[in-house]
Amino acid sequence: MTTKTLNASVAGSAILPALFAVVLGLGIITLAGHVQASALHDAAHDVRHATGFPCH
Ligand SMILES: [Zn+2]
Repeated sequence: MTTKTLNASVAGSAILPALFAVVLGLGIITLAGHVQASALHDAAHDVRHATGFPCH
C-alpha cells in the first residue's frame, strides 16, 4: 500500500516539469512570432554585447 502511494506521487511530479517546458516553449515561440523583427535583432545584439561576444 505504501509502494502504491509512492509510485503515484513520482508519476505526478514527473508530469509537471514536462508540462512547464511545453508551456514555456510555446510561449517563447508565440512571443518571437509576434514581436517586431527589429526588436528581436536589438535584443539579440544587446545579449551579444552583454556576454562579451565579439560583434563589431
Ligand atoms: Zn554590436
